[in-house]
Amino acid sequence: MKTIEDFNFENKKALIRVDFNVPLNDTYEVTDTTRIEAAKPTIIKILEDGGSAVLMSHLGRPKGKQEEYSLKHIMNKVSDILGVQVTFVQDCVGSTAEEVVTSLKGGEVVLLENLRFYKEETEGNQEFAEKLSKLGDVYVNDAFGTAHRAHASTTVVAQFFKDQKCFGKLLAKEIESINKVLKSGEHPVTAILGGSKVSSKITIIENILDAVDHLIIGGGMAYTFIKAKGGQIGNSICEDDKQELALEILKKAKQKQVEVHLPVDVIAADAFDNEANTQTVAIDQIPDGWEGLDVGPKSLEKFHEVLLASKTILWNGPLGVFEMENFAKGTIALGNSIAEATEAGAFSLVGGGDSVAAVKQFGFEDKVSYVSTGGGAMLESLEGKTLPGIVAITS
Ligand code: AMP
Repeated sequence: MKTIEDFNFENKKALIRVDFNVPLNDTYEVTDTTRIEAAKPTIIKILEDGGSAVLMSHLGRPKGKQEEYSLKHIMNKVSDILGVQVTFVQDCVGSTAEEVVTSLKGGEVVLLENLRFYKEETEGNQEFAEKLSKLGDVYVNDAFGTAHRAHASTTVVAQFFKDQKCFGKLLAKEIESINKVLKSGEHPVTAILGGSKVSSKITIIENILDAVDHLIIGGGMAYTFIKAKGGQIGNSICEDDKQELALEILKKAKQKQVEVHLPVDVIAADAFDNEANTQTVAIDQIPDGWEGLDVGPKSLEKFHEVLLASKTILWNGPLGVFEMENFAKGTIALGNSIAEATEAGAFSLVGGGDSVAAVKQFGFEDKVSYVSTGGGAMLESLEGKTLPGIVAITS
């Protein structure tokens, strides 16, 4: 795996695909700078080598050229974060961009206009990619969030750089973290899968059964398993047409000697409401009219024990309806157990949509080993898919 550490960028122009798809408010101010900050180490290494950086990104989903999606709105924020005045170019390809890049000196940074002002970007158009390739000597991909897309700037452009292409620090760290869980992690390896539906996680479950020793299943998807095993789940969320599949997964796990841990107790509510009445009951004896909205204390004790004995941990999906304060306790307790295991030396990776939101909301970000920056890209990696943006660099 070639990373920017394998290159000296002195007098080189690096064309860097970053993910600056950041949220903006009504007055076009950046409201969350995480993604810009995440790209900083890569850009700084290149500048410190004596190279220059040409930054390209998409912002939102514009239909053609739409002012509100212009990357010029974020230019000052990028300059502040990098500590370098960034030059903005109003077109991401063509003669103006080429002229600006030709006169670039070491230590300078250019930000190109939104790639998606051209439909050729998402189409993965060859000619468009070739035009982009004229804007750098080395191609660096540091955008994990779009690595699962075969777009011009994320994948197709790489073919014009032969061996002059590599991963940025952020993307390298993402790949390394996923590999630690799926391939090279120290055992025991434990995956916690939560969230609402079995159907959206099925490919992940099937893929990770080969890598893990323990599988903790929580959140809404646990009820499909419990019902399939003959339990009474009241009004809890359930995918009836996935019951067979749930039993098959349990069988496969057994064959592969993976220990599956389903919750044994839950906090049941008489309505899908934060203020609903609640009772703690066995997960397979939920009364009619009640639904499980969070995991119960006995289950959490067991999960804690499994996690503290684990050396590698993957967490995807909340254990309950964490958006409601009264049903967030299980997800918070799980976060605490993972933090404790990490403190004791385990490697922990949190990835994919809602668990990342939960980790940020409850302040676990600095207490786990790594929080992935890519939702869809992370899920596809866990499903065992090879991401086009990654193949483009390694092949
Ligand atoms: P996903 O997008 O599949 O990862 O699912 C995340 C969603 O699952 C969150 O919005 C949670 O509120 C929801 N969820 C977790 N546990 C439950 C549950 N017991 N009942 C209903 N929804 C749940």
